[in-house]
Amino acid sequence: MTHPAQPKASHFINGAYVEDTSGTPIPVIYAATGEEIATVYAATPAIVEQALTSAQAAQKIWAKTAPTERGRVLRRAADIMRERNHDLSVLETYDTGKPLQETLVADATSGADALEYFGGLAASLTGEHIPLGEDWVYTIREPLGLCVGIGAWNYPTQIACWKGAPALACGNSMVFKPSETTPLCALKVAEILIEAGAPAGLFNVVQGMGEVGGQLVTDPRVDKVSLTGSVPTGKKVYAAAAEGMKHVTMELGGKSPMLVFEDADIENAISGAINGNFYSSGQVCSNGTRVFVHKDIKEKFLARLAERTATAKLGDPMDEEVNFGPMVTENQMNIVLGYIEKGKAEGARLICGGGRAEMDGYYVQPTVFADVTDDMTIAREEIFGPVMCVLDFDSEDEVVARANDTEFGLSAGVFTKDFTRAHRVIGQLEAGSCFINSYNDAPVEAPFGGVKASGVGRENSKEAIKHFSQVKSVYVRMGDCEAAF
Ligand code: NAD
Repeated sequence: MTHPAQPKASHFINGAYVEDTSGTPIPVIYAATGEEIATVYAATPAIVEQALTSAQAAQKIWAKTAPTERGRVLRRAADIMRERNHDLSVLETYDTGKPLQETLVADATSGADALEYFGGLAASLTGEHIPLGEDWVYTIREPLGLCVGIGAWNYPTQIACWKGAPALACGNSMVFKPSETTPLCALKVAEILIEAGAPAGLFNVVQGMGEVGGQLVTDPRVDKVSLTGSVPTGKKVYAAAAEGMKHVTMELGGKSPMLVFEDADIENAISGAINGNFYSSGQVCSNGTRVFVHKDIKEKFLARLAERTATAKLGDPMDEEVNFGPMVTENQMNIVLGYIEKGKAEGARLICGGGRAEMDGYYVQPTVFADVTDDMTIAREEIFGPVMCVLDFDSEDEVVARANDTEFGLSAGVFTKDFTRAHRVIGQLEAGSCFINSYNDAPVEAPFGGVKASGVGRENSKEAIKHFSQVKSVYVRMGDCEAAF
């Protein structure tokens, strides 16, 4: 019997599901059981061509559609997503393995927030009038044209919407390629946009590995590429886009610091560390995986952290009591287990966890290492799994310098009751998305993105508009045009 997660076809192009079984088969494995629940096929060149051609045609229609109407379509799509939140969350759980307890509140809901927010902004995207005495300049905010979105596997619905909603609000079209690991959810976003009244071809979804991504990025018809992925992929995609002078947004990896000062509310700081390391089983780009704890409170922090981590409920992700799911794939589980072994070998002190959980599926125990030093592999490389590194520090200047000593710069958090210190420290941290006495909040109203190797550009908020539109300036001379001869 066909599994309920199996989509009608692999791709969604020009308003309809499209299949081409001559592409490479991509099995969809449910991470909680290891069972194959669906198959899609990588896009062939013919499929990529259909997607780009129809998106280019739809963009022309959409750019001429009144912005208020564009906004209405996006807001209707948001309403449909909210109405179907339960089914979409179940699908997200099948796609990623994340517990339903999380997907019910963090995925389709976050996607709907983006559609609603950018739908609301669509009609207010205007240029300006710049007086020059008699003459004047006016500006027109124009769409970029045809955009490509490429997703990572941790938030398949959210990533499709965080890219699609601002792109469409600005009058662009998008061809979206989900991660080959989680190909299911973006198809639903495409389906819902059509139901909400978007023209056929405006938001197409094609499946495939990096090769299909590469074809999209290098196509001369494409004006902009927005990638969510790892730093090595980001470097390749950025370089390929540069060849065609295309606009880019790069949402990449991190090894973000969380600083817990001696005056912090310890329970609160532990909540932040748990959210910033174990949510989605640690598969979150902005996670605060280097937890610097002041040496005076370190042992108290570790003891209570271990107590609270022991209460994590691992199990069937569809059981709403379960709050900790498996790694997305067997491969990712093995990568994370490899880092745990490295942590042990390099001399970090294991506080809790430390291996695979004894159950079916790709579960890794929530793991905490203490006495981690800056040079250890687990403190330097992005693990993308539930492995928290606790490092100690003495002084504010020292911890700021150590927190910044990394190629990454996605996020940073500070826990302290001293607000002067909080702002002073945040001001010095090299990161794009920061938190004070909290961690990993990502409302659509706030800009999201990284500095240094963690990325270029910002998603969400009004900032995203700048990355999906461009300004034309028009000089208007009211008198005669003077010339030298
Ligand atoms: P990945 O870099 O392996 O793949 C990301 C996407 O890029 C996939 O869809 C993949 O098929 C595609 N791709 C790979 N090579 C390509 C190429 N040459 N040309 C075009 N496309 C190509 O990342 P992943 O393993 O799917 O996701 C995990 C990574 O993503 C982590 O590093 C994580 O930190 C990062 N991430 C960042 C954010 C953020 O917003 N900053 C969010 C989630 C995940």
